[in-house]
Amino acid sequence: MSDSTRVYSYSAVLMGSPILLKLFAHNEPLASRVFRLIKHYEDLLTVNRAQSQVMDINHAAGQHPVVVSAPVYTLIKCAKAASLLPQSTFNFAIGPLVKRWRIGFKGDSVPPADEITQLLTLTNPEQVVLNDDDMSVFLAQPGMEIDLGAIAKGFIADRVRDYLRQEGVEQGLINLGGNVQTLGTPEGGWSIGLKKPFSTSGAMIGTLEIENKSVVTSGVYERFFEQNGHLYHHILDPRTGYPLDNELDSVTIISADSIDGDIWTTLMYGMGVEKGCMALRSRPDIEAIFVTKNKEVVLSSSHLYRFTLLDSDYRLTG
Ligand code: FAD
Ligand code: MG
Ligand code: MG
Repeated sequence: MSDSTRVYSYSAVLMGSPILLKLFAHNEPLASRVFRLIKHYEDLLTVNRAQSQVMDINHAAGQHPVVVSAPVYTLIKCAKAASLLPQSTFNFAIGPLVKRWRIGFKGDSVPPADEITQLLTLTNPEQVVLNDDDMSVFLAQPGMEIDLGAIAKGFIADRVRDYLRQEGVEQGLINLGGNVQTLGTPEGGWSIGLKKPFSTSGAMIGTLEIENKSVVTSGVYERFFEQNGHLYHHILDPRTGYPLDNELDSVTIISADSIDGDIWTTLMYGMGVEKGCMALRSRPDIEAIFVTKNKEVVLSSSHLYRFTLLDSDYRLTG
């Protein structure tokens, strides 16, 4: 490999996730600034610590509106819009249920059914009241909680891309653990691996070649626990309060902006393969790769990327 195509990788652990930055020139100070930027957004948005702007909103539920910074307000507004789409299974007001299930954290267990029913009454996204005049957010009922876990990594990946561009970087990649965003077209394009569900060795089903695109994957194998032979994963159905139960092991979204990828993985999880492919017909800017439990790989379409199947256990359809 010639020196001009050499890739420099920088890693960190932030947001409880492995973070990987790839650049084509050695630039440690820039990598540090990128990680600081991610940390800055984590500090504003996390619900895993007592204090953040999102936690300030949650602590004030049923009491008073909280004024937040412009990026946090923009992200919350976007999360509310996605939650109010017709038949959306994306719901940013799902916090009380996420907290109760604790999937992916210590102490996860199946909550009693009556508790789930009660917590569902605290997850109405309409009751997150936004005020554009002062950029304030108010949770109308005590006990309500915002959780941006299904959208914040996408938002942050886009901010990293914008920052790299602003710094004059022509080619780069950021992986926030499931959310990949890329800048530019290196020689041969970017090749992104599609993870094999439940593989402990990091095996891949196939690869995607992309340019200037984001690739977001959400899977039942990422965070889950097993109880009485049943697998409980971290994407909850806002209608029932239980993990979304369908034919899917994972969904990958290819789009320009990673925030769209993050929202649409959750939406696709709710729709499944057939309805998902139908919904994407009106969105030529967004494409999906569904990996089913019976080892099918279904492409909604593939104009934005090129897919190569590597694992012969899987069949490619669509
Ligand atoms: P996605 O499928 O994109 O989202 C699933 C997540 O969204 C769930 O984990 C839940 O948080 C939420 N959710 C579940 N159901 C729904 C639904 N129907 N609609 C909307 N949202 C839903 N992990 C740690 O282990 N430790 C940390 O300290 C930590 N800090 C974090 C800080 C920030 C700012 C962010 C963004 C994430 C952090 N995480 C942390 C990871 C977080 O807990 C989630 O696991 C992660 O965001 C899930 O991303 P995903 O792409 O895997 O899943
Ligand atoms: Mg998501
Ligand atoms: Mg995600």
